[in-house]
Amino acid sequence: PELERTAPVRHRPALSYELFPARSDVSFERLQETIAHLEATGPDYVSVTSRARHGNLARVIEVTEHVLAETSLRPLVHLTSIGSTRAQLTTIIHALLDRGVRGILALRGDQPEGHRLEDDEVPFARPLIELIRDIERERTATLAGGRVSIGVAAYPLRHPESPTTSHDTEVLVAKEKAGADFAITQVFFEPSVYCGLLARAEEAGIRMPIVPGLVPATNPRRLERLAAISGVEAPRELLHQLEIASDEVERRRIGVRFTVDLARRVLDAGAPGLHLYTFNSHADALDVLDHLDLDRWSATPQGDAR
Ligand code: FAD
Repeated sequence: PELERTAPVRHRPALSYELFPARSDVSFERLQETIAHLEATGPDYVSVTSRARHGNLARVIEVTEHVLAETSLRPLVHLTSIGSTRAQLTTIIHALLDRGVRGILALRGDQPEGHRLEDDEVPFARPLIELIRDIERERTATLAGGRVSIGVAAYPLRHPESPTTSHDTEVLVAKEKAGADFAITQVFFEPSVYCGLLARAEEAGIRMPIVPGLVPATNPRRLERLAAISGVEAPRELLHQLEIASDEVERRRIGVRFTVDLARRVLDAGAPGLHLYTFNSHADALDVLDHLDLDRWSATPQGDAR
């Protein structure tokens, strides 16, 4: 009889979803349903946004504890440094580690106009990464459940406060050197800008994976809000098509098709995974995944794409 051969283990590209904390008990219930739907697709983690200086940490911890206690998922908690002192951030980091969080997205946060740094404030993502690594080192003996995985933000288009993209690259290099394990990108709508970021990162010797952050582009209002926050405009043609769509079904079809096409092209270009900005709604994210068939980009552990 023919020898049975074991197929090599193949790894699907990494998959993660971004959520924001609930603002009320009712929306927390809805969020739990969304998380259950997303969990069914087996993501590597779900990330939870936060705004430390807005004091929404109790709500961030609420959803994080739910994810840890009630699901099989790993949370990646966003932590912003601006507006908080080193001492305050130290307390928050200990609180997260105490609860079993082992993934932190280290961010500066958006700087309010005319912001003046307070004494002991942590002004950039890089010193926040260093702080997390310092605390991790101090706690090595008591830190059951493994090393802390630190993610950072990366910008396919220049960060609005940055003078040049090469300055952005230097900042990304510094964040990796300080101890970042991976990066997630700001939204973008053209594969070429993501490829440009990968090329600059490679040239600068960056080794960490840079995961593209994609928004299911189904809702023109949301895309406009996102442009206001991030400075990244959705293509006019896409916005136009979404505006003139005859109904909701048509609008979703257009947005999902656009996002699936973008996802395919960045995966073909070597993206190590996908991070979907869900806006706490699972339907569009799941639609994108259904049309994508991520397994097509599975690779063996040696990394040869199939
Ligand atoms: P940094 O890497 O610190 O950079 C900030 C700016 O300072 C850049 O212009 C950089 O070029 C410059 N800079 C950095 N270091 C130096 C230096 N040493 N000297 C001079 N200039 C320097 N915001 C939230 O409030 N909550 C969230 O949950 C959140 N999640 C996000 C998730 C992702 C994936 C992304 C991409 C962004 C997210 N943001 C979030 C937005 C983010 O906080 C903003 O984009 C913010 O303006 C920059 O954060 P950063 O961590 O990239 O900052």
